[in-house]
Amino acid sequence: EYMTSAEIREKYLKFFESKGCKRMPSSSLIPDDPSLLLTSAGMVQFKPYFLHQKELDPAYIGTTTVQKCVRTNDIDNIGDARHLSFFEMLGNFSFGCYFKQEMCAWAFEFSTEVLGLPKDKLYFTVFEDDDETIEIWKSLGVAEDHISRLGEDDNFWRAGPTGPCGPCSEIYFDQGPEVGCGSPDCKPGCDCDRFLEYWNCVFTQYDGQEDGTLAPLKTKNIDTGMGLERMAAIMQGVTNNYDTDVLRSLVGVGERLAGVEYGKDEAADLCLRIMADHSRSVTFMIADGILPSNEGRGYVLRRLLRRAVMKGHMLGLDKPFLNEYVDELVKLMGSVYPEIIDNRELIRGIILSEEERFGANLRQGRAFLSESLDKLEGTTLPGEQAFTLHDTYGFPVDITRELCEERGVVVDMEGFERCMEAQRNRARAANVKDAEAAWSTYGGIHAELLKELGATKFVGYQELSSQATVS
Ligand code: ATP
Ligand code: MG
Ligand code: MG
Ligand code: MG
Repeated sequence: EYMTSAEIREKYLKFFESKGCKRMPSSSLIPDDPSLLLTSAGMVQFKPYFLHQKELDPAYIGTTTVQKCVRTNDIDNIGDARHLSFFEMLGNFSFGCYFKQEMCAWAFEFSTEVLGLPKDKLYFTVFEDDDETIEIWKSLGVAEDHISRLGEDDNFWRAGPTGPCGPCSEIYFDQGPEVGCGSPDCKPGCDCDRFLEYWNCVFTQYDGQEDGTLAPLKTKNIDTGMGLERMAAIMQGVTNNYDTDVLRSLVGVGERLAGVEYGKDEAADLCLRIMADHSRSVTFMIADGILPSNEGRGYVLRRLLRRAVMKGHMLGLDKPFLNEYVDELVKLMGSVYPEIIDNRELIRGIILSEEERFGANLRQGRAFLSESLDKLEGTTLPGEQAFTLHDTYGFPVDITRELCEERGVVVDMEGFERCMEAQRNRARAANVKDAEAAWSTYGGIHAELLKELGATKFVGYQELSSQATVS
């Protein structure tokens, strides 16, 4: 039965409230946690509860939230059928109250009774030797051949290198053999789209230590996450996240701006999907006080923003356009996340000025590239030059490759990767420090800025960035 994203969100939160969980708001995309750059899961705001540094009101057995998440580990997959850089995670959390038995029963009840998913399309995975959870799924009526064991990569969950973590059990929806790789060996955990992972139930029992060991937590806990967009795809009978209500509306914004129709050309469709996705992450990141910069989360924002602009450029949009998504986002998501309504003008202004700056980069970068190509001997662009385009002009390497292809030139990808790896090592060292410095200051700067700007007009990026560096 068709359900809107809004209906699924509300049904989930109501369901877990009815079980005794306290409904709590999404936390900021800027985690109150120096070990993380961005909020990538619902459990992030509850780390102190898992560690019993904070206690939940004893009138409740746990909490339930819809959490805004940004993940950049998936960046190369954004635009595929199921990976987004920004997504909403529906979660419920127990800090020593309910555990596996209740959680599995409720996940099964919510999936089959509240959402009405057919049992024969559901598949369950457990961590390696977790026989207990296999027995629980069986006792709920799951057939044995719908349960399988997976290793650490899939079924041991951690938010980062340290902190609360544990083995998990996941639920997959079978979208049918025609969706995906077609191999007779295809099963949950396969990289293709046939079995869509939609719900992760983590049995949070450990506290990952700096030295890599696992210390047991005081209590046995639950941390679960269900991707709203993935569930919306299932409930709306589509196999691609971008064909669901909210994301399809955003794809529509791109169609109108670029004057192209979605579904006619795979390369153009990919641009439209990436623009739709990135417009959301960028909007929500700025709403939470992140500004474009060359470090830490500000750099993540800048990368996403530029990538979206570049995709628009490929569709012939050479004037600023990305800020035009904000009004549609306010319409689609403002009632759940009022911060995007409150900060609407600031968000539009920051996106616009970054688009204007990058517009100049785009022209200079193209000039740099055509000069390099003119001087080039042979048919291979050195990796260092692709890296300069990436690093100085903000050109994603796939764009450089496409532009080179037009002139019959290939990019030395190994050389490029070597430069990238060196940069990643530098960034890794810098990020932690930057995150530490940033989480205590960005929020404050943002609040001050907003006060100062109030309802008045946007003062421009230059002033913002100079204020941001003063304190
Ligand atoms: P995948 O294997 O598909 O990359 P994951 O195992 O990394 O997903 P989890 O960390 O288990 O995902 O997150 C819990 C749930 O959040 C997933 O089951 C999925 O429904 C949703 N989710 C995770 N990553 C994304 C994403 N990039 N875009 C949309 N939804 C996501
Ligand atoms: Mg993933
Ligand atoms: Mg997975
Ligand atoms: Mg998972």
